[in-house]
Amino acid sequence: MSNKSHEGWSVPAVDAVRVTPSTRVADLDRNGTPGFDGDKALGERLLEERGAHLSALQEKLYANGRATDENRSVLLILQGMDTAGKGGMVRNVIGHMDPQGVDHAAFGVPTEEEKRHHYLWRIRKALPRNGQVGVFDRSHYEDVLVVRVHNLVPPEQWEPRYDEINHFEKELVESGTTLIKVAMFVSLDEQKKRLAERLDRPDKYWKYNPGDVTERGYWPQYQQAYQDMLDRTSTEHAPWHVVPCDRKWYSRLAVTELLIDALERLDLHWPPADFDVEVEKARLAAS
Ligand code: ADP
Repeated sequence: MSNKSHEGWSVPAVDAVRVTPSTRVADLDRNGTPGFDGDKALGERLLEERGAHLSALQEKLYANGRATDENRSVLLILQGMDTAGKGGMVRNVIGHMDPQGVDHAAFGVPTEEEKRHHYLWRIRKALPRNGQVGVFDRSHYEDVLVVRVHNLVPPEQWEPRYDEINHFEKELVESGTTLIKVAMFVSLDEQKKRLAERLDRPDKYWKYNPGDVTERGYWPQYQQAYQDMLDRTSTEHAPWHVVPCDRKWYSRLAVTELLIDALERLDLHWPPADFDVEVEKARLAAS
């Protein structure tokens, strides 16, 4: 057990969703709530309470970033099929944090300029700076997911990327960035419902992309690509977490707990004053 259990959790979230060698994408219950025994009402209440705690922890990280040159940052990587809820995760979980301490980046189809560079080029440019919580909505893992499923480059090119990514992430961790990798899994049925809602509601048309339905035809290939990604890039320094997403409240609560765990492990303290507090009090009183 890596932290104490909190209300509602019989197994701490970090342990309940961490990938193990026996994790099978095909068998994953996407409607499940691993480690959590409470219902939606409790989950939603906790999301607010724990979100407030997360916000306080993030402020401390930000304060340290302002006060010291020690490089400490956190990077949350969200990977998931369309409709898994990546955008909602950013709004509802990251939304608890002070925006000035958040570096958000979303990675879509590479631009012409990005295509001229190595696939990690755009990733390196978006890494969180000292004191920041970075959030990647999609990431370098697209280069072993969509790229592989659609044969955008030949296997000789994507195959070495698993090792290359492990190496890249190890360097990142050694330089002071804590990685939280979250693979978000929605079921094929729930995805259909969410896409149908987008087609039913004019306020959701903007989220609908006809290509999403095309991608459903590649579901088995994607599941295999996700399996290989988990098998080959879940490392000690940067493990994957597998989060069922059919219940949005659960996935958001689980990721809130992953962030809290990572920030608590940094064991941050408020930076000491770099001025004489008593002198300043006296000056203020006299002013
Ligand atoms: P979203 O669908 O998440 O709202 P976008 O429409 O901007 O965001 O872009 C996402 C699309 O970009 C996805 O279909 C994704 O697979 C694709 N994509 C991301 N990275 C790459 C890449 N390296 N190569 C090809 N396609 C990519």
